[in-house]
Amino acid sequence: MKILTILPVSIILNFSIAFGGDALNVVSSIQTLGAIASEIGGDKVVVTSLSKGYMDPHFVDAKPSLVLDLHKADLLIHVGLELEVGWLPPLVQQSRNANIQVGENGDFEAATVIHILRVPTVRVTRAMGDLHPQGNPHFWIPPKNALLIAKALTERFKKLKPDQGAYFDSQYSRFLIKVSELEKKLEPQMRKTKGLKVVPFHDSWAYVSEWLGLEETGYIEIKPGVPASPQHLSTLIGKMNEDKTKAILMENYYNKSTAESVASNTKAKLLEMPSDVGATPEIKTYSDLVTGVVTKIIEAVN
Ligand SMILES: [Zn+2]
Repeated sequence: MKILTILPVSIILNFSIAFGGDALNVVSSIQTLGAIASEIGGDKVVVTSLSKGYMDPHFVDAKPSLVLDLHKADLLIHVGLELEVGWLPPLVQQSRNANIQVGENGDFEAATVIHILRVPTVRVTRAMGDLHPQGNPHFWIPPKNALLIAKALTERFKKLKPDQGAYFDSQYSRFLIKVSELEKKLEPQMRKTKGLKVVPFHDSWAYVSEWLGLEETGYIEIKPGVPASPQHLSTLIGKMNEDKTKAILMENYYNKSTAESVASNTKAKLLEMPSDVGATPEIKTYSDLVTGVVTKIIEAVN
């Protein structure tokens, strides 16, 4: 009986070694986190993203196929701060994958390595309509934050695959150089965005505003996730005209009609912003995303 139980295990192990099927199965909640994981993991990882860059990451359709992706995952990378709370935790539970449960080595919450902005000073809940009760979760675009995530992922990959430590370290160095060169290239454009007055549709540009020196003069939503009322819009339009706000920043998964109506009553340009890798077919990598964001904002500079 003992022999029978030991035998299959050794066969499986030999099979895995012989066919080199040892790449880490990485699953990300949003595409940008998956793209950063690919930069560091290279050919030692296979990355799948549960949501696509053209979807609202707060509200993803929890399809059964996503459970299957999670079942096979060695590592789950997610944003945290309740961004995915409406759809990801039930999928993780249904996956019956012990490795990716909260606190396990296969669970990576990016928010834990980021300096979080706009943490509410009073207690707020999603029941009050606020989608950001633990602070602003839209942090993955600025290079400073992407590098913090990349560094922490390097360490996690080394823990999961200790024999490939040198490889992951060199991949991180490569990514660091790539991002530094990109920042240098975009510097002349970035200088022009300082002090630009903008109104985001949803409060999802806080980190980009800090990075590019944008001044947020209001929001189309009353608070994150709470739709605008006519009274709020009329006050906002008055303020935007007074402040000479130049742009409305809106992800392309929102309905345009409210933002268009605000734009037509002000001098602000409505910018459909990419906020994740995969937001448009051209945005395939983290560098594409950063370039896309800066290029788009420049459209509102005179
Ligand atoms: Zn949000």
